[in-house]
Amino acid sequence: MAIRISGIVRAARTVQGRLQHGIPEWERTAFLADAAEQVRAIDMVLDDLGACVEDLPVPSQRAYAVLRAAAAMTPDVLPLSDTTAPVVKPLRIPGLVGALRAQLGRLATQPDGEATVEQVQRTSAAHAERVRAICAEERAAPSGLPKPSAQAFGMLAWLAVPENTECYARQHALAMQYLEPVLLAASPGRILRLTFEPGRNVHALRKRGRLLTLKLSVGYLAAAPSDFADLAEAFVQRDALPPALGARYRAFHGSEPSAAVIRAVDELWRPSAEQAGGRTYNLDVIFRRLNAAYFEGRMARPQLVWEASLSSRRFGTYTAAGDRVVIDARLDDPAVPEFVAECVLFHELLHKHYGTPEVAGRRRVHPPHFKQHELEHPRFEESERWLAALAAGERAPLD
Ligand SMILES: [Zn+2]
Repeated sequence: MAIRISGIVRAARTVQGRLQHGIPEWERTAFLADAAEQVRAIDMVLDDLGACVEDLPVPSQRAYAVLRAAAAMTPDVLPLSDTTAPVVKPLRIPGLVGALRAQLGRLATQPDGEATVEQVQRTSAAHAERVRAICAEERAAPSGLPKPSAQAFGMLAWLAVPENTECYARQHALAMQYLEPVLLAASPGRILRLTFEPGRNVHALRKRGRLLTLKLSVGYLAAAPSDFADLAEAFVQRDALPPALGARYRAFHGSEPSAAVIRAVDELWRPSAEQAGGRTYNLDVIFRRLNAAYFEGRMARPQLVWEASLSSRRFGTYTAAGDRVVIDARLDDPAVPEFVAECVLFHELLHKHYGTPEVAGRRRVHPPHFKQHELEHPRFEESERWLAALAAGERAPLD
């Protein structure tokens, strides 16, 4: 069995390079923990595939040995660094991958219980919230985490939204309906454990003991019954896939609904600097200015995205689940002054800052202190007039 795990060789090179240059005192614990995390991540993939290190290509085997050796070191034997300048501290939050595995495991084993779905949603939300709090404290973003952790965060943040957890449970039931009979007919007496996993190219079937594990890409959360029927059929005819079936299978994988789910999960953790830079204005630059002026520079940067027309009267949104601000691309125009985009972004950042507090028993989207804070911007009212004009004579509510 030939197995490839991308990134091992690169990770080992980085570790070797760092060892050559020495590790500064303040970073030693993190360096060792990082190496251990890399080893653990590889072990987990191997374990998931029912494989061992010897199944990897030789360069990966060597790289794995390098990582293991580094992870086994102790702070006192690490070579000292002659530079003292702290670079960017790597962000680590242990246990994220395990937390996601536990949630997906619950959805795979007790998929029907409404209580389970709700519990998974709440637990995922709590995990995502914890990650955001740690990131805010470190003034970092989840995209700074090692990729397996970042992806796990993305999936947890996605599951934190009730409609998403419900969608997951529904699609799980649908997938089981089509795939379970086929897969268990080929492996009688086993139990099928099916999960949808972040990433595009996930598709792994493995047997261990009585357990049959099937991992499908989250793209399948957008699958129709006919797509699962095709997949089931593909398992039956895997040795000689009929061309028409193969074509349908590929068409689903390239389809927009499937890509949209993959993107939705990815966007919850991937850095989006390129989206922040519009044709005229850069949201990243505007954010830094606002952060310094109105939040004492303490706000962790959310995802900042320019997007074409939200709706005619809406110029910005903030999604807490994704920690994401979207600003309408109509404002990314040399004919519209920059302070208009700045004020809209400011408004959305205030949503991030204040959340949706309860005032006198009511959930208030724009509580009084929110509005006061907003007016600290000297051009806020002027910007409101611009937006009203842009919305073709209608007042533009910013929520
Ligand atoms: Zn609002």
